[in-house]
Amino acid sequence: MPPPTPRLSAEQWLARVFADAAPRHVGTGWISGILGIVLGLLALLAVLCLNFPQYLTLPELRSRYPLDLVRLAIDVGLLAGMALSGLSLLLRRKKALGVAGLALAGAALALGAGGAEIPRVGEARIYLALDWFVLGVITTAALFVPLERAFPLRRGQGVFRRGWLTDTQYFFASHVLAQVMSVAVLAPAVALGAVLALPQAQAAVEGLPWLVQWAMCVLVADLAQYGVHRAFHAVPLLWRFHKVHHSVEAMDWLAGSRLHLVDVIVTRGLVLLALLVAGFAESVVYAYLALVSFHAVFIHANFAPRWGWLERWVAMPRFHHWHHAREAEARDVNFAVHLPMIDRWFGTCHMPEGRWPEGYGLADERAPEGWARQLVWPLRRRA
Ligand SMILES: [Zn+2]
Ligand SMILES: [Zn+2]
Repeated sequence: MPPPTPRLSAEQWLARVFADAAPRHVGTGWISGILGIVLGLLALLAVLCLNFPQYLTLPELRSRYPLDLVRLAIDVGLLAGMALSGLSLLLRRKKALGVAGLALAGAALALGAGGAEIPRVGEARIYLALDWFVLGVITTAALFVPLERAFPLRRGQGVFRRGWLTDTQYFFASHVLAQVMSVAVLAPAVALGAVLALPQAQAAVEGLPWLVQWAMCVLVADLAQYGVHRAFHAVPLLWRFHKVHHSVEAMDWLAGSRLHLVDVIVTRGLVLLALLVAGFAESVVYAYLALVSFHAVFIHANFAPRWGWLERWVAMPRFHHWHHAREAEARDVNFAVHLPMIDRWFGTCHMPEGRWPEGYGLADERAPEGWARQLVWPLRRRA
């Protein structure tokens, strides 16, 4: 009997279909092929949003879009994607990249491209925030991919490092499941916040200048986050969920997305609760949320520059990379997201002068690949 063939992971399968031994530098059709696929896919997803707005877009955003501009952007992206895929077909011997890019663009064209008619329909009870994902990819990738290419900490680590597909799934899920998040995080925090509100604290906070409120908001949020994060490391039941985040073996802008749903709901819910109890103005909380959505990505980035004295006061990639370090010296350190001084106050700060960690990940085990498998991983008996 022939030996059973090992099952390929989705990542290995994609690598087998699209990658080849040919060089990947400028002029080989690799970069144009990848960009063609990304643009074709984003255009297709955006066109799907135009066709099925009630099921695929956030009600809060829907009425605010400058539609003419959106339609123009879809068509420009689509044309650029087709041109790049065509270029890749010309330059590269293996045609899979170019063909896939053209197929995605073709599907977007078949659905009407930027001119797709928006149906007049009512609200759906359940929806996916696909538009939020498309916006998230465009803004985050446009900022961090060039930054990581220009100043990489680990030069040999490409965009398609081990685990990239799993982390892309996390990025996708954390955006399209916005409705689940608002039901599971926002609703309980707002309800509990109303019960636990401290009127005296709120009155005192209200009178403060906006910028002072914002600085206090960052401190309060990071203190709450510190406590919750430490509990996730200390309590074995919670660690089962949080170790999913620590299973990343390559750090970059995508790696920070790898957070178990339980981890996200509990952490975000309790941090938001702390902010609501303290009574910060709504605009202050929104400004904080904008900061955290950038900063939490940034501290995971494959980004080498050092920041001198600023590293003591603002969490930079080196600070959080040590939180993910595989080395025994770095166990349970650097829990803060924004302010390293919180870790100094509690004696958990670890910033060895001039060094970065050797490697990242769990010391004694490896997580299964894929969002769905990792969702049930903590529930398995031997997790
Ligand atoms: Zn942690
Ligand atoms: Zn992290």
